[in-house]
Amino acid sequence: MDIKKIEKIVSLCKRRGFIFQSSEIYGGLASTWDYGPLGVEMKRKIKNDWWHNIVTSRDNVVGMDAAILMHPKTWEASGHVENFHDPLVDCKHCKTRYRADHIDLDKPCERCGVKDWTEPRQFNLMFKTAIGPVEDSEEIAYLRPETAQGIFVNFSNVQATSRQKLPFGIAQIGKAFRNEITTGNFLFRTREFEQMELEFFVYPEETGKWLEYWCAERVEWFKQLGITAGKLRLRPHGADELAHYSSACYDVEYEFPFGWSELEGIADRGTFDLDQHNKTSGKKQTYFDPVSNRHIVPAVVEASAGVDRAFLTCLVDAYNEEEVRGEKRVVLKLSPKVAPITCAVFPLVNKAGQPEKALKIVKDIRQEFSAFYDAGGSIGRRYRRQDEAGTPFGVTVDHQTMEDDTVTLRDRDTMEQVRIPADQIRRALRERLSK
Ligand SMILES: [Zn+2]
Repeated sequence: MDIKKIEKIVSLCKRRGFIFQSSEIYGGLASTWDYGPLGVEMKRKIKNDWWHNIVTSRDNVVGMDAAILMHPKTWEASGHVENFHDPLVDCKHCKTRYRADHIDLDKPCERCGVKDWTEPRQFNLMFKTAIGPVEDSEEIAYLRPETAQGIFVNFSNVQATSRQKLPFGIAQIGKAFRNEITTGNFLFRTREFEQMELEFFVYPEETGKWLEYWCAERVEWFKQLGITAGKLRLRPHGADELAHYSSACYDVEYEFPFGWSELEGIADRGTFDLDQHNKTSGKKQTYFDPVSNRHIVPAVVEASAGVDRAFLTCLVDAYNEEEVRGEKRVVLKLSPKVAPITCAVFPLVNKAGQPEKALKIVKDIRQEFSAFYDAGGSIGRRYRRQDEAGTPFGVTVDHQTMEDDTVTLRDRDTMEQVRIPADQIRRALRERLSK
């Protein structure tokens, strides 16, 4: 596949206002990105769809939103202080830094050709910060490396107040931070990212069944976001890949131009996290089981997805270059569910009452869908701009509209146009979106 495709997508993202390089006017900050007007709408739609799919459409999953800063004991209990390391080496000659497990230390540095390595040393991936004005070891805090722990430390609070019975889940969407040594592939690996995590608490003997259940659910979710099924797969982890807390794990992977890569991890975390917090805090994070009349520590099956990776997947999967009447057309065939703008509205000419009519139509569509008014340039150029923005539908007000109150409705993918009454636009969009 075409590795240049990512570069083309980065360029389209800037051109259309999906993604900008962070602090670009100062030369940018490596591997950090800002979501622009179209990007933020699409990201929000992805998160809303996940939230509906995982939380509000179910009676056994509740949501929460924990603080990013947590008591530092949290990360001792979770094992992150001790275990969340990557082995790191530096080339003494050119000072390039590598992950020791990503290169062959018997070979010279691929950047400068000299073989002069530092000893490998362990590098903790958590971002450290200090709380209060004085930097002192008592006041150390970390930017959370995962949202999951905010859920585990609140297990009893949430269970008691929501009165959920096993099996049930707690879900959260939020930012997490990892001081990765190697980043890259645009939004794929960044040091600041957003997670959509579900911790699903179950009887310890039932983790296998629920792991299977959530694997199937999560692959299905990516498919209904419009992602090509043939480019999605579920890959079991080998024993050497498992995290310190996990006994079984699957990755949902997508075939990117840079190879098959992880979108989401679905893991059996057992009772590790609640056990650790029980031990470290001395406060019981347990569940009173009405069946056996005993307090038990539930096991957990986790489904942890990256918002930015889901976003990148939608873009990569939707990007198409086509030839239309001898001209190149770049089009994002995004699902209408995630497209930032649902319908664009154009007056064919900027006179004869057409702009006024088009603006009235935009106002009406906005009661239900996102809409965008564009009167700038030839109609062909306006269509192309919306094709690049992934806008699935376009309404054009023309001469005939002023006579019989009908408009044309254009489909982004087929480029076919149908004429419908102006007062039926919302109904037509509703029908197409429910497909
Ligand atoms: Zn070097």
